[in-house]
Amino acid sequence: MNEKFDLIIIGGGLAGAALAVALRGSRLAIALIDNAISAPGPLKPAGWDTRIYAYTPASARFLQTLGIWDRLDHDRLCAVERMQVHGDGGGRLDFEARDSGCAELAWIGESAPLLHELWESLTRQHNVAVFAPAAPKTFTRRDASVDITLEDGRILSAALAVGADGRDSWLRQAAGIGAHGHSYSQQAIVANLRATAPHQGIARQWFRTDGTLAWLPLPGDRISLVWSVPDGIAATRMALSDDDFCQRAAEAGGRALGDFAIETPRAAFDLRFMRAERIVAPRLALVGDAAHAIHPLSGHGINLGFQDVQALAGLLGAAGSWEDIGEHALLRRYARARAEEPFLLQYTTDALARLFACRNPLVAKLRNMGLDLAARLPVAAKLLARYAANGAF
Ligand SMILES: Cc1cc2nc3c(=O)[nH]c(=O)nc-3n(C[C@H](O)[C@H](O)[C@H](O)COP(=O)(O)OP(=O)(O)OC[C@H]3O[C@@H](n4cnc5c(N)ncnc54)[C@H](O)[C@@H]3O)c2cc1C
Repeated sequence: MNEKFDLIIIGGGLAGAALAVALRGSRLAIALIDNAISAPGPLKPAGWDTRIYAYTPASARFLQTLGIWDRLDHDRLCAVERMQVHGDGGGRLDFEARDSGCAELAWIGESAPLLHELWESLTRQHNVAVFAPAAPKTFTRRDASVDITLEDGRILSAALAVGADGRDSWLRQAAGIGAHGHSYSQQAIVANLRATAPHQGIARQWFRTDGTLAWLPLPGDRISLVWSVPDGIAATRMALSDDDFCQRAAEAGGRALGDFAIETPRAAFDLRFMRAERIVAPRLALVGDAAHAIHPLSGHGINLGFQDVQALAGLLGAAGSWEDIGEHALLRRYARARAEEPFLLQYTTDALARLFACRNPLVAKLRNMGLDLAARLPVAAKLLARYAANGAF
């Protein structure tokens, strides 16, 4: 016997969970499947999470409309008022929130408590059935529905399936949607550190010949470190003792925040560029990293995902009871709404990652001149502040 729904969401990460919550007031019956999370959802973490993200003011507003932002512990969020970008040859660029007309450029906060609050909300929703942990096995598209067979044999049917299952999306592959991509041959090492000098709400970023280093301000004397370095260097840095690692990290940023001590264990993530060939197909749509994965140097991955969710939930939630939410015309409206921004942001970020990875001395000189020139042009500061705050120029 098939269990029938209107919508099946595969993946209950930040994007998939936010989509379920955004459809709270809709008439849609939703199935949410995740193969790594156990119902009733991730526990509220006691200590600090190593996964720290920069959330744009637009993402904060979106989460506020879902009633999630205000449920977060605001003592564990830090507003970024200024950003300093350093080149590898002395170039430097500073910009401020007021350049973009915003109170802050971004909010820096943990991933785990946000995921916890999203799941708290969706498991209380009358219109969501959670299948977690559960793994999808087959995907069958019919004229008027899709079937997802789970590994335990249950069959779920719906008018539409949404892939929110991350960069290696099972649904994208099961539906035969190709993806363009390349590895950066880099790992992002992340850790929370304590600094001896105050960060003053400044996010600092260095484009160095051995990779990109970011220090993102957290409440008190904490910072989140994101150090994207070539694979070989990453292995060596991960093998260092905590004290040696902290010393290397402090030196890499010219000891701008004094000395560091480790607050959370280090973790490393391999970095890849990925762009799905299309984000909709008959009875299927992709959101978040399933649609586009981006280098973390711009700090916009999940912000793009939340924009996808907003666009898709807006269309699905507004569909009348007589409308078929899996109909291609409706899904194409979603694809059109999301055609431009992820494309621009992905390729701008990719170009920056490649520009600063290039070891040619002439290119090195030019990129530092570029930073200095941008620093002297108020319009550039304004554009960059807007890029940081909104993910759009
Ligand atoms: C080092 C680093 C720093 C970053 N910093 C930032 C930042 O500052 N700002 C920002 O906006 N973004 C940042 N990002 C990007 C951000 O992590 C991603 O964009 C975001 O996690 C994507 O969320 P998602 O829900 O789309 O996918 P995921 O987080 O990958 O979630 C996918 C979900 O699907 C589930 N799943 C997977 N496969 C299956 C399957 N077959 N069946 C069922 N369920 C499945 C998984 O269990 C998971 O719950 C960073 C990324 C990295 C690596």
